[in-house]
Order: sequence, then C-alpha cells, then structure tokens
Amino acid sequence: MTSTSAAATARATVHGYPRQGPGRELKKAVEGYWKGTVTAGALHDTAAGLRRSQWRQLADAGLDEVPTGGFSYYDHVLDTSVMVGAIPARHRAAVEADALDGYFAMARGTRDVTPLEMTKWFDTNYHYLVPELGPDTVFAADPGKQTAELREALALGLAARPVLVGPVTYLLLAKPGPEVPDDFDPLTLLDRLLPVYAEVLAALRAAGAEWVQLDEPALVQDRTPAVLNAAARAYRELGGAADRPKLLVASYFDRLGKALPVLAKAPVEGLALDFTGTAAGNLEDLAAVGGLPGKRLVAGVVNGRNVWINDLGASLTTLGTLLGLAGRVDVASSCSLLHVPLDAAAERDIDPQIARWLAFARQKTAEIVTLARGLTHGTGAITAELAANRADLASRTGSPLTHDPAVRARAAAVTEADGRRSASYPERSAAQRAHLGLPLLPTTTIGSFPQTGELRTARAELRAGRIDGEAYDKRIAAEIQEVIAFQERAGIDVLVHGEPERNDMVQYFAERLTGYLATRHGWVQSYGTRYVRPPVLAGDISRPEPMTVRWTRYAQSLTERPVKGMLTGPVTMLAWSFVRDDQPRAETARQVALALREEVKDLETAGTSVIQVDEPALRETLPLRSADRPEYLAWATEAFRLATGGVRPDTQIHTHMCYAEFGDIIRAIDDLDADVISLEAARSHMQVAGELAAVGYPREVGPGVYDIHSPRIPDAAEAAGLLRRGLDAIPAERLWVNPDCGLKTRGWAEVRASLENLVAAAREVRDGLPAPTTES
Ligand code: GLN
Ligand code: ZN
Repeated sequence: MTSTSAAATARATVHGYPRQGPGRELKKAVEGYWKGTVTAGALHDTAAGLRRSQWRQLADAGLDEVPTGGFSYYDHVLDTSVMVGAIPARHRAAVEADALDGYFAMARGTRDVTPLEMTKWFDTNYHYLVPELGPDTVFAADPGKQTAELREALALGLAARPVLVGPVTYLLLAKPGPEVPDDFDPLTLLDRLLPVYAEVLAALRAAGAEWVQLDEPALVQDRTPAVLNAAARAYRELGGAADRPKLLVASYFDRLGKALPVLAKAPVEGLALDFTGTAAGNLEDLAAVGGLPGKRLVAGVVNGRNVWINDLGASLTTLGTLLGLAGRVDVASSCSLLHVPLDAAAERDIDPQIARWLAFARQKTAEIVTLARGLTHGTGAITAELAANRADLASRTGSPLTHDPAVRARAAAVTEADGRRSASYPERSAAQRAHLGLPLLPTTTIGSFPQTGELRTARAELRAGRIDGEAYDKRIAAEIQEVIAFQERAGIDVLVHGEPERNDMVQYFAERLTGYLATRHGWVQSYGTRYVRPPVLAGDISRPEPMTVRWTRYAQSLTERPVKGMLTGPVTMLAWSFVRDDQPRAETARQVALALREEVKDLETAGTSVIQVDEPALRETLPLRSADRPEYLAWATEAFRLATGGVRPDTQIHTHMCYAEFGDIIRAIDDLDADVISLEAARSHMQVAGELAAVGYPREVGPGVYDIHSPRIPDAAEAAGLLRRGLDAIPAERLWVNPDCGLKTRGWAEVRASLENLVAAAREVRDGLPAPTTES
C-alpha cells in the first residue's frame, strides 16, 4: 500500500442500487397495476416503501451519501425523457389523460400506439427505452420525480445525492423519431436541452440538494471532436448557472480517454470515474492531465457489474495513489449496482466455500464502506477486514473449482490447427452437398418451437416434485414427436427438435457444465419488469457428460430428414452470465469452447450431420472502444472455431446471430468459417444479404424471411418477394430459407401458417430458377 496516512474523511457512496426489492415487490406491484389488481395509490406506496427501506439499509450499512432519483417504475432513461418533456407526439394524449398510464404507454405501447424502441444500455444486459427526438422537439422541465425522491430521502435525515442521466449522454442515446429523417442528429438539440437541465438542477438545489450527479457514460466511447466540444460546452453552461448545486459528472464502463481532459477542465466540482477492468487506464490518464486539484474525485474501485469480492488491498493502493491527484477522494462502486443481484447472503444453496467469493449489491456496499474507512483512518482501522478478504481471495486461487488441472492441460495443448476445419470450404461444401442431398434454397428454422404453457407447466411441476423425471421426459418426447411430424408435413428440409427441454439457451448448458453455478435469488433487471437470473461462471469449465445428444438422437430417430443439432456458442455463454474475473475472458471462452467441442464431436458420432452453434451475443459483446475490438474479435472467433473445427468435412456447421447491424463485425463473421449463417433480415428487407455479398462473403447464408418478433403471418408471396431480393445478392446455391430467429415466443397457430407459407415460397422461387448448368 502506497499510503496509509489518514486523509480527509472519505465518503462512501454508490451510483445506484437494484430497484426491485428483496422479494421483487416492485415487479409484482407494477404488473398488478397493469392487470388492474393494484391501484395507482398502492403502487405508489409500495414504491415509496421500497425506496425508504433501501435508503435506510444503505445508511445503516455505513454509506455517507445515498443516491436518489435512480428508482424507476420501468426505466431511468424513460424517466429522463419525462423529466425533459420529450414525449413523442403519439404518446401525448395518453400522458395528458393520465401521467402514469401515459408513462407505461411509452414503455409498452397500447392497442393503438407503438412503444418507444428498446435497446441495450452500453455493453450491459440492461435495456433502456430510446428517446425519440426531432427538429420539432420542444423540451420542458418536469423535475417532480427527482425533487420528490430527494425530499423523501432528506426527510429520513440522510445526506442524499440526486443522480440524473447527463444531457450529452441523453442526446447521444436518442434517435430520430419515426417521422424524422434518419440523418437528424439529436446532439443538435443540446442548446435547447441545457436550459431545461439548468432548471431541473435549480429545482433540486431548492429542494435541498448539495450535490447532483450527472451521468455521462456515453463519453467513454470513441467520440469525435465535435461531440467532445459539445460536452465541454454543456458543462461550461451548466457550471456557469447561478443557482445550482455542486455538480459531480460521472462516467463508467470504460476509461474516458480524450473526454477526461474535457471534463477535468469543466467548471464542475467533481468527477466520478471508474477504475475497474478496462477503465483502470483512467488512473494514468488522470495523472497525465495533472489530476483534479481542489475537486472531488469519486473513485469507482468496487466493480458494479460483476459478482465477485473486491481485492481490498489492491483497491486501497489505487485509492492511495488517487489521494495525491484530487482535492478529496471518496469511495464508490464503478457504476450503479443495478447490474448485480441484491444479496449474496440470500443464496443458501451455494457451497460456502464458493459463497465467500461472491459479492452482490449488499456485499459491495459493505466493501465500499470498509475502503472509505481504510482511506480515512489508515489500514490499521480495517485490519480484520483486510485479513478476511486476503483469506477469501486465497481460497479462490487455491480452489480445485477455479483450477482443474485437466481443463488447464487441455486448454494449454490447443494448437492453431484445432481451430481449423480439416478441409477448405469448397471441398466441404461439395462433401456436404453429396452427404445431405438438399435441394436448392433449402428450408430450415433457427431451433426453438413455441414454448407452450404445457411445457412451462411441466417444468414447474418437475421442479416442485409433482411429476418425476420420467414423466417429464415423456412430455418432452411427445413434444419432439409433434415438432418433427409438423416439419415433415410442412415439407421443411433440415429439421430441428424444437428445444422443448430448454428453459433458456444459456442456462440449459450452464446447468450441465461443471464450473457454472445457479443462483436462487440472483435477479437482475433486464428491462421493465423483466428480471433474469444469469448463471455464475465461477470456475474451470468441463463437461461431465453429453448435454444434448439424447434429445437430438431421439428426434433424428423419428425422421429420415437431417435433424440439426443445436448448441449455444462460447461468446454467448459468457455474455449472458456473470463471468469469473480472475482470468482473462479469452481463457474462459476457450474452456467453454473445448467443452462444446466435445459435444459437437459426440453429436457427429451420434449421426448428426448438421450442427448449429448460436452466437447472438457476438455483436453485442463488442468492446465500447474500437481500439479494444480486434483483440476481442480474435478470441471470440477463435473460441467459435475451436468449438466447431473438429468435425468431418461433410458435417455442416451452422451459426445464428439475431441482430442485423453487421458492419463492424463482418470480417469476424467470415472468420468463424461456419458453413451456413442465418441472420435476422425480414424487417430490413434482406439488406444484410447485400452487405454480406458486398464484402465477398463466400459461404452459405440464411437471411430471415419471416419476422418472428411480430404475430403477423407473412403470406407466401411476401416471403417469396424477400427471397427474390436475397437472390439478387446471393446465388441460389448458397441461399437458405428460414425465419429470422427461434420461434419460442410465438404461438403454434402463427408458426404453422407462417412456416407453411415459407415452404411454399421456397418451392415457388425454386421452380422459377433457371435449370442448373451441370457441374462436376
Ligand atoms: N436456437 C435458438 C432458438 O431458436 C436461438 C435463439 C437466439 O438467437 N437468441 O431459440
Ligand atoms: Zn436469433
């Protein structure tokens, strides 16, 4: 530790906290309100009660300053849109009729109006509602929610700091509304927005705020000089306002880079910076700009996005260095704790040997308090905590769970050749053609068939012990029979078993791999009232036994046509889990890839000729800064090739990705060397087919011709039209016919009709193709 000398009192704080309550009370109240079983008054009371008990808990845990305003009935970016009056025209009537119902109309749509679009909050698994702006947008300050929550916290006698989405980030996250030209840049509205923010800040000051935090995470991404200038202007103007609280500008998820000197120079009283993971570079950058003399630095040294205990000794070293770089240093999480579950102590089923490595929101809060105490009073004040932390960390390093010599040896023995198919693509393609005997424009689906109420009931009954494994398996088998029979009747060429046994495409595999843990209460908000329980990838990964072979083989036994095996790829397995932080993700991905490689081999041995490895998360896991992308794409594609590279030339490897903005990763897609890739394309009218053709993508492509995100049933003419557009870009020898994505969220009636139309379209277009010239 560089410094153990007592500093001025360091305050402990967080940027935000999970909203749901210990028993997901908020979800229940909001959904009850939607159903009409909970009144607006009761919803309001539940929410206020949750906020109160959360602030009390944080204060009791020793936080010196609690955050306010981050609570939300649905999403904090939507709350920001309300705060600045950016209500799209189509939602205005609903908002005027009733503010709460109008709010939910923006979030979820109504019978008559579509909701705001939803997308991922940076590279987290939280989704926000995208503000819709245009040249006619008129902002108006509506600080009511912020001031009310501040008053609630102050009434408890607590030091409270309102947290708002900053104006620059708000505009950078916005999109042109539906009637606005695509090239409209929301940032041009900055001058209109700033006075509204100034008004909100003044209202918060009047309500008793000493400090207000403005979150600007969008500034950690690569930004043009124009954007950086806009940020400088924004904080010059807000900082220059007469009647304002002290301003703390926060950034997180990565280092600020060129935005750091901009914010360091701005006339604000403090910055909050992330010092974890890839953001650790902020330390050096801060020194390079001469620190923040006379200002407050809120140091995010406790990672707000993982579930692991902090290395307190290392954090104290960082904090000690920072002491010399700012007027005062406070201790915080790197970002809002919204992204982690509430309380690791609620996990009674996790082996205590492993539980001691876990830190959820409550444990992270305690770590922050400990660090602030250590920073203020010297390490002597936290000797016991430091010793316990060292022991916990050592138990992790020395554990057979985190270090399985067999897994390590296998990973170390990987050669470049393991990640390469044994034959070139043209050879493979010929071998697969001969082996599979598929027609031109073969039809297939992406994997899942409707997850019916009966399937969910069967799973619940199995969990509750009301039916045994045998009875459950019978139901799964019956479902597979139905799915296979339907596909045969419909005339689909490459069948699937329908994934009825899978609750979730990541969890299913996590439950079957050693090294993964499940939590019982580890809920994290995905969007609105949807919460997920991501599995925890805690140790070295191995596969004790085959995971999918049984049902795939069963499905294949029911038909002469090829049944496609279905696996979730290594990048997606990591992206939708909490991943260990004690080794590089590349290493972890390689272990998952090796486990999948065994599964792929076993499927092939069991007679599966077509195997799909889904990687919908490949694009969304892309690092926020472009400088970090090549390294990520290198390990991500290597892991995919390691999983799939060991098969025979005549075994056909498919992959699937949902999202269709592929510009940034088109090279990486090529590097996967999959024989067939299926993608979402129906809504964008097959645009992605053209993009792939433009870069000379050499292998087979299945751009979706059926938009599965909508209950609409496309008729055969519509599907045929899309298919012909696909043919403009991709030759018939390399074009597949399939839906955009899995069918699990759809109903059987829609799926039946849509797939029948899809097959009819394929036949019609196939029949119209020129007779093939004979090839050798
Ligand atoms: N095979 C999966 C399914 O069909 C793929 C899902 C996805 O792309 N997200 O459900
Ligand atoms: Zn998909």
